[in-house]
Amino acid sequence: MNGKEYVNKVLDEVKKENEGQHEFLQAVEEVLETLIPVFDKNPKYMEEGILERIVEPERQIMFRVPWIDDNGKVRVNRGYRIQFNSAIGPYKGGLRFHPTVNLSIIKFLGFEQIFKNSLTGLPIGGGKGGSNFDPKGKSDREIMRFCQSFMSELYKHIGENIDVPAGDIGVGGREIGYLFGQYKKIASSYDAGVLTGKGLTFGGSLVRTEATGYGLVYFVEEMLKSNGMDMDGMKVLVSGSGNVAIYAMEKAKQLGAKVLACSDSNGFIYDKNGIDVQTVKNIKEVNRGRISEYIKYHPSAEYHEGCNGIWNIPCDVALPCATQNEIDKEAALTLVKNGVKAVGEGANMPSTLEAVEVYFANNVLFAPAKASNAGGVAVSALEMSQNSMRMNWTFEEVDKKLKDIMVNIHSKSVATAEEYGFKGNLLVGANIAGFLKVADAMMYQGIV
Ligand code: NDP
Repeated sequence: MNGKEYVNKVLDEVKKENEGQHEFLQAVEEVLETLIPVFDKNPKYMEEGILERIVEPERQIMFRVPWIDDNGKVRVNRGYRIQFNSAIGPYKGGLRFHPTVNLSIIKFLGFEQIFKNSLTGLPIGGGKGGSNFDPKGKSDREIMRFCQSFMSELYKHIGENIDVPAGDIGVGGREIGYLFGQYKKIASSYDAGVLTGKGLTFGGSLVRTEATGYGLVYFVEEMLKSNGMDMDGMKVLVSGSGNVAIYAMEKAKQLGAKVLACSDSNGFIYDKNGIDVQTVKNIKEVNRGRISEYIKYHPSAEYHEGCNGIWNIPCDVALPCATQNEIDKEAALTLVKNGVKAVGEGANMPSTLEAVEVYFANNVLFAPAKASNAGGVAVSALEMSQNSMRMNWTFEEVDKKLKDIMVNIHSKSVATAEEYGFKGNLLVGANIAGFLKVADAMMYQGIV
């Protein structure tokens, strides 16, 4: 059997076993298609059934999360933790609280996390979790009660050397604090390294908040530089206005770019003078408000209902930092028509498979999420290191380590793409480089 036949066989099985799990199937298809040359070159991975094993989570946990709202009413949500692969370290990956969360979404995120974590060069396996709980419009006390109930089940399955969750959409410092408090109470032990993204007063790391956004821009800067360009003077679009988007905008501006627009799930802001990041922080981080409020503070900016319109604004660099499948074929074609030079993925799988084809067909530089948004989990792993050592590094130290990791992921992806005959294709390079380390670890550990 050659590589293509092997990949097709495994893909058929995955489709049969995971019917209707569209996001998961999309993520698996994207990765497996790019791995074909690996199996032609190293048939040993086929013989050891690496693919059959890597597409099946080691463990899938689903649980009831009952909680009581401010009116005394009983509410119930569903919790998930997918422990996907522990070949190179304890499971590691965020928790997402959003009404759209389902098994397919958590599995796609957990699957991607395996390769992303491997690319960081740090010893962390892949996992992901979350709930269909909607934090929007909930009081602090409701959020706390939900987090406590969620952790009352999750604590049985996690640990510093077992599985280390962090934040994702809808889970930031506030939620991690409540989750950690409940874990500590139940476990009767101060296991700081059981969660990352903690507050700075109880084991958090400097730069964790900024890490995904900063890391994304470090990666894109590296990609631009290796093609004779840089961020200075670039016109940039950033979708979303959450954790990743805010710090991507901040770093892009620091490097001399002009950020023209950002969005939330209701609409987008276009500010021809450049988005004022501090205003976005005040609206989103401090007041948990809507991005439409931006025009109160900057009347010359425009607010448009509907988030997808953001991709119609002409730009040099597009940084999708909101959610999966936010750039479809049509949006990708519009970006190309308007002269986009590079797309850097801050969100997980923000481009559909068709959109990615459009980038490649039109020579748009493409930084795939697994590589370009790995900065968040990388600094989470640095948080774990600091917790183990019981010491803290300075902002400058962590930021330098983050930058080095992103530069390294870029060069590893470039070199691997070239080695396998796909020069310049960072998607292929990142997938293969991430895969090889995990596959080798799985080979050495036997059939487990
Ligand atoms: P946040 O919850 O902080 O922010 C998400 C932002 O995206 C919000 O502004 C939200 O708007 C907006 N949004 C959601 N859906 C849409 C949509 N359809 N169109 C436009 N905007 C939308 O999440 P994060 O910033 O943490 O995560 C964003 C993405 O980055 C996710 O894909 C996540 O998996 C990925 N990621 C995050 C990492 C991290 O460290 N946080 C690490 C690696 C990847 P609203 O306020 O209306 O909900």
